[in-house]
Amino acid sequence: MTDISMFIDGEHRAATGGTSFERRNPLDGGIATRAPAATPADAVAAVEAAHRAFASWSQTGPGARRALLLKAAHALESRADAFVQAMARETGASALWAGFNVHLAAGILTEAASLTTQIAGEVIPSDVPGSLAMGVRQAAGVVIGIAPWNAPVILATRAIATPLACGNTVVLKGSELCPETHALIIEALAEAGLPKGTVNFVTNAPADAGAVVEAMVAHPAVRRVNFTGSTRVGKLIAQTCAKYLKPAVLELGGKAPFVVLDDADIDAAVNAAIFGSFANSGQICMSTERIVVDNAIADEFVSKFAARAQALPLGDPREGPVVLGSVVDMSTVKRCNALIDDALAKGARLVCGGKATHTLMPATVLDHVTPAMEIYREESFGPVKAVVRVSGVEEAVAIANDNEFGLSSAVFGRDVARAWNVAQRIEAGICHVNGPTVHDEAQMPFGGVKASGYGRFGGRAGVEAFTELRWITVQTTPRHYPF
Ligand code: NAD
Repeated sequence: MTDISMFIDGEHRAATGGTSFERRNPLDGGIATRAPAATPADAVAAVEAAHRAFASWSQTGPGARRALLLKAAHALESRADAFVQAMARETGASALWAGFNVHLAAGILTEAASLTTQIAGEVIPSDVPGSLAMGVRQAAGVVIGIAPWNAPVILATRAIATPLACGNTVVLKGSELCPETHALIIEALAEAGLPKGTVNFVTNAPADAGAVVEAMVAHPAVRRVNFTGSTRVGKLIAQTCAKYLKPAVLELGGKAPFVVLDDADIDAAVNAAIFGSFANSGQICMSTERIVVDNAIADEFVSKFAARAQALPLGDPREGPVVLGSVVDMSTVKRCNALIDDALAKGARLVCGGKATHTLMPATVLDHVTPAMEIYREESFGPVKAVVRVSGVEEAVAIANDNEFGLSSAVFGRDVARAWNVAQRIEAGICHVNGPTVHDEAQMPFGGVKASGYGRFGGRAGVEAFTELRWITVQTTPRHYPF
C-alpha cells in the first residue's frame, strides 16, 4: 500500500482535516493506495498557487521551458518500473500497457518541449495606413486538467504538457482509480525543477469530484479546462464550464468502427483488429469496438480473428507478462456480461471467450451482431467485441456511422483509393486506412466528433487550444480620425 500526497505550491500536502480515500486492487481487493480527499478549498488553493506562478512562468523564455520539459521527459522515463507496479496495483494493467504509457507520455513531454518555440502569430494586412497588425498567441492563464485511469500516464501527461509549453500553469485533478500513477507524473515534473506553483496536483474522494471540479472551474484565474473521460461526465463538465464561460477541450468516449472491405488483406486486418480490440483489455477510448466486415470475406476473417483472440495470454499482471491483465473493476465485468447476455438472447453467436466471474476477462467475440443488440451501440470499454456483417461499401459506411460516438476508426482494403474515400465518409475525428484504431502520437491532432467531444490535443492543435489568440496593433504613422 502506498500513501500519496497532493502537490500544491511546490509542497506535498494532505487534505484539510486529513481526510483520505482508498483505491483497492481490482484482483484481490487489497488497498493499493491511500490518497488525500481534497475539499473544494484545497482545490482553490491549488488554483491560487498556479495563478501566482503564472506571472513568471508565462514570461519564462522558450529555451528555459523547453529544457525543463525535456528534463521532465527523462525523469518520467526513469520511473518506468514504478509506473508498471503502480498501474498493476491500481488498475490491473499489464506491464506491456504500462510500458507503452510511459514511452508515449515521455514523447508527449518531448513534443511539448519542441512546441515552446512554435507559440507564434502572424502579421495581418491592415486597411489602416501605418498600422502594424498582428495576431499573437499568448499563454491563457491557469489550466485545469482532468484525466481518467485507463491510459493514465499518457492522458494525465497530455492534460498538462502542452498547456505548460504554452506558458500556462496547471492543476491536474487525478483519477480516484489511479492516484499513485498520476502522482508519479507530478513527481517527475517536480524533479525536473519546474518552479513552485507551476504544476499542482489534487486528488479527491469519488463523491467529491463534482464539487472539487466546480470550485476550480469557477475561479476567475482558470482560463481553460481539459477533460478526458466518459461522455456522461463530459456533459457535466461542459455544463459547469458553460456556467462560468470557460472554454474546454473534451475527449470523451468512443465506439470505434473497424471496416474490413471485400478486398482487404485479411491477415493484416486480423492483426490490426486484434491489437486494437484487446490492448489494455479493450479499455482504451480508441479501442476497436465494432468490426464491420463484408460478407464476402467475413467467414475467413472471423475464424482467423477468433483463433488469435483466444490465444492471447490472460492473467494477473503482477505475476508475469500478459496481454490481457485485469479489467479495472467488477462494474466492467457486470457491464460486459450484460452485453453478452443481451446479444446472445437476440441471436448473436459467441465465437470465443464469454462471461466472467472475476476481473480476469477473456477476449470475447460476438458475431452476427445487429442494431437490436445493446453491444451494437454501447461502449463496452472491455474485451468484448462485436462483429457486424455487411454487403458492400454503402452498407459498411452506413453501419460505421450509425453511432452517437465519433473518435477513432479504421478501414482495410487493398484498393487504397477506395478505402481512402470510405475513410473520408466516416464520421470520426480519426481514421486510419490499413492501420489499427488504436494509434496515438504526440504531434497529431487528437480528438473526436459527435458524442466523443470537441477540441484537439496534440501538436499545433494543442497550441491553439491552450493559448489566447490576440489582435495587437502598433500605429507607426500619424493616424487620421474623422473628427
Ligand atoms: P469518468 O468520466 O468516470 O472519470 C473521469 C474523471 O471525471 C475522473 O477524474 C473523475 O474524478 C471525474 N469526475 C467524475 N464525476 C465527476 C463530476 N460529477 N464532475 C466532475 N468530474 C467528475 O471516466 P473513466 O471511467 O475514468 O474513463 C473511461 C472513459 O473515458 C471511457 O468512456 C473512455 O472512452 C473515455 N476516454 C476517452 C479518451 C479520449 O481521449 N477521448 C481517452 C481515454 C478514455
